[in-house]
Amino acid sequence: MKAYKYVFFSLTLILPTTICTEDCIPKIAIIGGGIGGASASHFLNELFNNNKLLKIDLFEGNEIGGRLATVNINENNYESGGAIIHNRNKLMKYFAKYLGLEERNMFADERFGIWSGNEFLFEDSSYEVVTLAKLIYRYGLQPFYLDRFVNALITDFHKIYELQDNGIGFDNVTSLLSAMNEEFPQWLEESIKDRLSRMGYDEQFIDEMVKTTIVVNYGQSTDIHSFAGFVSVAGAGTSLWSVKGGNKEVPKQLISRNKNIRVVPAVVKKIIYSSEDDRTFKYILYYIDEENSQVKKSDVYDVVIIATPLTQDQSMSIEFVNFPNDINFKFPGNYQTTYATFVKGQLNISYFGLDYPIDNILSCNPEKSILSSVGNLCSVEGIKSDVWKIFSRNPLKKNIINKLFKKTDEVKEIEWKAYPKYSTEIYANKFKLYDHLYHVNAIEWAASAMEMSAIGGRNVAILAYNNYEQKCKDIHGENSKAYFKRKKSVPKFHSEF
Ligand SMILES: Cc1cc2nc3c(=O)[nH]c(=O)nc-3n(C[C@H](O)[C@H](O)[C@H](O)COP(=O)(O)OP(=O)(O)OC[C@H]3O[C@@H](n4cnc5c(N)ncnc54)[C@H](O)[C@@H]3O)c2cc1C
Repeated sequence: MKAYKYVFFSLTLILPTTICTEDCIPKIAIIGGGIGGASASHFLNELFNNNKLLKIDLFEGNEIGGRLATVNINENNYESGGAIIHNRNKLMKYFAKYLGLEERNMFADERFGIWSGNEFLFEDSSYEVVTLAKLIYRYGLQPFYLDRFVNALITDFHKIYELQDNGIGFDNVTSLLSAMNEEFPQWLEESIKDRLSRMGYDEQFIDEMVKTTIVVNYGQSTDIHSFAGFVSVAGAGTSLWSVKGGNKEVPKQLISRNKNIRVVPAVVKKIIYSSEDDRTFKYILYYIDEENSQVKKSDVYDVVIIATPLTQDQSMSIEFVNFPNDINFKFPGNYQTTYATFVKGQLNISYFGLDYPIDNILSCNPEKSILSSVGNLCSVEGIKSDVWKIFSRNPLKKNIINKLFKKTDEVKEIEWKAYPKYSTEIYANKFKLYDHLYHVNAIEWAASAMEMSAIGGRNVAILAYNNYEQKCKDIHGENSKAYFKRKKSVPKFHSEF
């Protein structure tokens, strides 16, 4: 009798935790509704073959879209966060096509100049042949060599799409990078300046052309590591686009169209590791309900995906509670603060010593120029406007705005924790933080971009799927009905683009 009681008692303890669901489909929490979380949710759904039993709770403490956002000026919307997508970014292209969103070409006939703080070092021309002649005159053939080099890198980078098509996931950033090109991990340890000098590029070219792309894209300088540096150079290419209607439509629609997702508008405060023993454990979240500001305890999850940066400087930090003592959840490093100031008005061209307006003024020396860039904007619908976006490292004082503009009708400022502050130290490397606990944004320490978070999201979806499949096999046995009900092949999109 005693033995019977004991068996019954242990079963009641173990049953709810070991049997995932009948079909071995996990209950998943995703924290963060930016493009990283949206990509993870989309690919999880695909991997689990749209199984109705898949339950994803997506916690978002602010707006769905995260760093993809728009600002409204005079009844038009403008990209205020991530704006530019490279033509060879396959996942963003795939998402836009999958959702039926239109692409809007950018900068096709726009003009730019490199500003040192007191003069233009380089200005392009509306005639391509003149621009080419000016480039060669100032920098020789270096821009063309670098362009060729970066294109070859993008070809290596593309290997990730095929690997992901074949269901291969990576536990950390260095293994993901080295699967693209064995040398890529070393690039995290050498600054772009040192690397380009070693490759024979001269100081003037690095300090002007290359630095400008880094100031504009990452608000930083040429001491950032080479991988992020080359991504930044690639982002200065000519085939660039954004999503008509706003880039944030991608995460918004990926999430809203997925019937297996329940959006929980709440800030997650804690992830609690809840274990019966080493083999059987679950996760519980504590979150602040947006509606009544009360702390609530979530359902129990088999898998948790964190799709937001975890550095100490983030406004919605997350605590890890009750994990085994030997686990170190430290996330060093900081994010670069960037101010995006939107001004509807008339640029004061004489401030820049110009006789005629140009569309984009890009700084190679933000210490001197105060601003990192100022550019004339089209609305997210592609309509030309008299709205300008200024990126700067510090808030722009009113007297500066009054110097930069002859006339201002409206001014709005947005402060972003925009992208990691890069150096040659690797701060976060792990996609897999613990069993069935993943972190998308580790990938940002290689480079921050929409496509990178989309790739990171797909990577953790594959990891979560593969690891859960293994758990399922362990529990149910390889020949069990539950195991075979699951989809075997990973959906492919690679060949379509
Ligand atoms: C000004 C600016 C310009 C940029 N320009 C470009 C560009 O031109 N091209 C490009 O490719 N990339 C660009 N980027 C980078 C790009 O926008 C980001 O890399 C990408 O959007 C990051 O997406 P994510 O989903 O990983 O993170 P995020 O978009 O930051 O999403 C994280 C989400 O998690 C939520 N969250 C955080 N903590 C919690 C919590 N505790 N509980 C609940 N929810 C939480 C946040 O509210 C947020 O919505 C730019 C970024 C900025 C800021």
